[in-house]
Amino acid sequence: MLKTLSQVDPEIYNWIKKEEEREKSNLILIASENYTSPAVREAQGSVLTHKYAEGYPGRRYYGGCEFIDEIEKLAIKRAKELFSAPHVNVQPHSGSQANMAIYLALLKPGDVILGMDISSGGHLTHGHKINFSGTLFTPVYYGVDPKKEEIDFNEVEDKAIKHKPKIIICGASSYPKIIDFKTFREIAERVGAYLLADIAHIAGEVAAGLHPSPFPHAHFVTSTTHKTLRGPRGGIIMCQKEFASIVDQSVFPGIQGGPLMHVIAAKAVCFKEALQPEFKEYQKRVIQNAKRLANLLKEKGYRIVSGGTDTHLFLVDLRNKGLTGKQAEDLLGKVGISVNKNVIPYDPLPPAQTSGIRIGTPAITTRGMGEEEMEVIAKLIDMVLSHPGDERIMEMARKEVKELCERFPLYFS
Ligand SMILES: *Cc1c(COP(=O)(O)O)cnc(C)c1O
Repeated sequence: MLKTLSQVDPEIYNWIKKEEEREKSNLILIASENYTSPAVREAQGSVLTHKYAEGYPGRRYYGGCEFIDEIEKLAIKRAKELFSAPHVNVQPHSGSQANMAIYLALLKPGDVILGMDISSGGHLTHGHKINFSGTLFTPVYYGVDPKKEEIDFNEVEDKAIKHKPKIIICGASSYPKIIDFKTFREIAERVGAYLLADIAHIAGEVAAGLHPSPFPHAHFVTSTTHKTLRGPRGGIIMCQKEFASIVDQSVFPGIQGGPLMHVIAAKAVCFKEALQPEFKEYQKRVIQNAKRLANLLKEKGYRIVSGGTDTHLFLVDLRNKGLTGKQAEDLLGKVGISVNKNVIPYDPLPPAQTSGIRIGTPAITTRGMGEEEMEVIAKLIDMVLSHPGDERIMEMARKEVKELCERFPLYFS
């Protein structure tokens, strides 16, 4: 593999090899990451990257799109089947661009948008002040109830009535509970707002029928394809039929030029894989593993935000352990356990430190890890976080992480 690259550009080749080794020899517990299949990577590394295909199947601005058209049509057909989606656009380059396309299709600068605040689990593109969504539009936020740490629909409704948003955004990046799309739609109806469900994180569970579908409730649904869905890095938009043309126009020519056809082919492969019965089994194991790991940590005295998880991820509040999220991320990183620091609801610490970490099981489950391995991982996390800076303990943990990873090899060299 990468033989030509090793000769033409040894520097880049070496860094790629180092990254391959890192991905193989670390326990990746970052909730938004996963390992794609060999087929997805072959499609993504194909000659399709050469082709310009501005426009849509049957109406392109370039010649020579006869095969490209078939690929995009297949990707659309499979995504429609997978998500029961009335209309699909597979061209967004990322989850953020999918959201941007929706906002620009519906809103004028200054319009009010209602999204989940980032410390409760929302995404930057849901109206954060440092993102275009919070500067171009007027954001208002709902959060979670301080006690239950779950979405408080009374608050959502109060905010919606008070601020009259044009669009309500639901879906999150670090919220472990089921999202009730139906209730969101009822609130949207009451104030005449559109409902956007951003399922970037939970797309795999939704595809497998293990999380309620945003359809028929949401007017618009956006997602990434590279998180639980286990496809190539990219985005997708789904919507009700009546919005098909405004969505398509907003993606191209609105915010993008030529589509990444190699990525769209890889998305099509990912959707085919996600339609197989084994994918549902995989998603079940992802959730089982997350629940198990959260419970094991709870038994060891860690506080799990909102008490547990319904999905592939959960948040650990480290305040009773005397550690910040940043410190925990660094300590665990040193022994090969990859997690990310994450703000928790009403976090007293700034985002560069945080009081929590986010843990997710999609990647380790792709490797084949299950119940028994969750016991080992919980033990290792606790060992490291209970003995910060103890070199002997760190060395023991490092060795066990390495052994565990070797027992669950990945397909790449
Ligand atoms: C990851 C994520 C996105 C953005 O995806 P990118 O591909 O990184 O731009 C958008 N929304 C939510 C809820 C996410 O978790």
